[in-house]
Amino acid sequence: MCVTSCGREVFDFDPVKGKSVVARPLQCMVGCTSCRVWCIFDAISFPDPQRVRDLMNRRKILSYVKKQLEERIGQRAFSSEEKTAPEGSVAGTSQ
Ligand code: SF4
Repeated sequence: MCVTSCGREVFDFDPVKGKSVVARPLQCMVGCTSCRVWCIFDAISFPDPQRVRDLMNRRKILSYVKKQLEERIGQRAFSSEEKTAPEGSVAGTSQ
């Protein structure tokens, strides 16, 4: 189930052992726990969420995410200005 369901291709299947293997762990998405939910063998576990929060605080991840969010919001605002700007006008300027 995990091999075919993970959208990030974290798992491969070992046909000799007949088991899935974690082939690309760094492709796992932080916060996703879908494969654990699907696993009927209860074979998948994740770090304690508080440990992840502490790591995010130590590495100042939120300030990086905030910067990414501001960039995305800026890009969307700019692209919506382009869509709504009257023909012949320059987006972001008043004429
Ligand atoms: S937690 Fe999500 S992204 Fe990570 S391996 Fe499982 S299904 Fe894939």
